[in-house]
Amino acid sequence: MNTVLRKMLFVDLIKGLKVTFRNQDPKNVYTEQYPLQRPQVAERYRGAPRLNNHPDTNETLCIACDLCALACPENLIIVGSERNEKTRRKELTIFTYDLSRCMFCGLCEDACPVDALELTQDFEMANYTREGLTWDRETLEKGPQPKAYRR
Ligand code: SF4
Ligand code: SF4
Repeated sequence: MNTVLRKMLFVDLIKGLKVTFRNQDPKNVYTEQYPLQRPQVAERYRGAPRLNNHPDTNETLCIACDLCALACPENLIIVGSERNEKTRRKELTIFTYDLSRCMFCGLCEDACPVDALELTQDFEMANYTREGLTWDRETLEKGPQPKAYRR
């Protein structure tokens, strides 16, 4: 068929539409239906940070050693502590983590000698303000609270 005739009869357009409609079957849809279906993230995915507590005592595991803050190339972790005169141990007073500057490299998590700081698999960290991205100790201990979406 010559080119002019093909153009007049919309042959290429019809061929393209055939391909499109052949793949309209719902079994061929691969789009993730987020947020109704939460995607499976990789086991070693590094997402929202959490400061772990001891499961039995609910006391923080953090020993306020400051190693995570020193390991962070972005200097975005602030650890505050005071010495307990009775036990002579340092006790955690402040812990802040500025998510807006974090590149989720995991160096802080690796530096922690007691597995207190963990980058979890939660990826929902969007916020309307920059200030909201600075997580304090309470937020970090509570951990990510992903929303359950329903129709
Ligand atoms: S993941 Fe990397 S950039 Fe983020 S706080 Fe830890 S060390 Fe810093
Ligand atoms: S989170 Fe870990 S590395 Fe950071 S201050 Fe606490 S114990 Fe040290």
